[in-house]
Amino acid sequence: MSAELPGCHRYINRTAQTPLVPVRLGAGPAVWCKLEFLNPSGSTKDRIARFILEKAWRQGRLGTTDRVVEASSGSTSIALALACAQMGLRFTAVLPEGVSGERLLMIRAYGGEVRTTPRDQGIRGAIAEVERLGRGPGTFLPRQFANPDNAEAHRIGTACEVIDQIPGGRVDGVASGVGTGGTLVGLYEGLRESGCRVVPALARPVNLVSVHEVECCSFSARIPGVADALSEIFRPERLPDLLTVEVRDEDALAATRELIRLGFPVGPSSGLNYLAAVEVQRRLGGTAQVVTVFPDRMERYFTTELFKPFA
Ligand code: PMP
Repeated sequence: MSAELPGCHRYINRTAQTPLVPVRLGAGPAVWCKLEFLNPSGSTKDRIARFILEKAWRQGRLGTTDRVVEASSGSTSIALALACAQMGLRFTAVLPEGVSGERLLMIRAYGGEVRTTPRDQGIRGAIAEVERLGRGPGTFLPRQFANPDNAEAHRIGTACEVIDQIPGGRVDGVASGVGTGGTLVGLYEGLRESGCRVVPALARPVNLVSVHEVECCSFSARIPGVADALSEIFRPERLPDLLTVEVRDEDALAATRELIRLGFPVGPSSGLNYLAAVEVQRRLGGTAQVVTVFPDRMERYFTTELFKPFA
């Protein structure tokens, strides 16, 4: 077992919390929003990047000369690129063509290498390429779509923070869009273990586009990071009585702009999550306390539809 983490990583406060704040738009009910965009690389994926790498390092599965290789449409690659920069590790991000230029620049600025796979193969093409690269020696694959430590980072991290932060330590509902499912599954399990009788809810954009006719894999073109039926982590038996709240893309984008106008510099999935959480609050009614996350920052979306009205 390695005694000390490499690089400047070990000096960074691992217990820093993101704020949990009540947010209300217009006449709707207030819901509790975890400001995950305040993590160091700008998204909630810092949590899983650090957790997965630190655990692998401590267990001796990851060494200083290894190259970390991951498939991600952006946020996880940026978070891993930052964590690898801090730990002095090499990093390769494998991304489907078409990922926004800002994301590629961030990964490269942290010293990461970027490889692209054909756009029409979507994230599955990128995952297949990662598995091919991983067959070589000296590679470490975090495998965010299959690694149980993804949900674990949220179960023992995010969920515990929420319990400490929310009044009375009581959560009645938790809503989130799903990419890998790590956020929703980990939060739900952590909150349940803390004694909350919490209802889990999937925030689902209605306009999911099928990326591959043969595989049952869909993603949202307008709400990046959110997909459907993609991951080994997001399994129905882990989320009993799961509610599904469908949200129109236009509404998610409009809510995102309103959140930005209120001073939350967030990306499109925050609008999606927010509207789903409000709907869960309405269904549960009364004083139900519903939690959601604002996963990432608005700067990643300057060249997308989100910012068209301001161009
Ligand atoms: N990245 C972003 C930007 C997201 O909005 C979301 C969904 N909330 C995710 C990732 C998905 O998180 P997870 O992979 O934990 O399901």
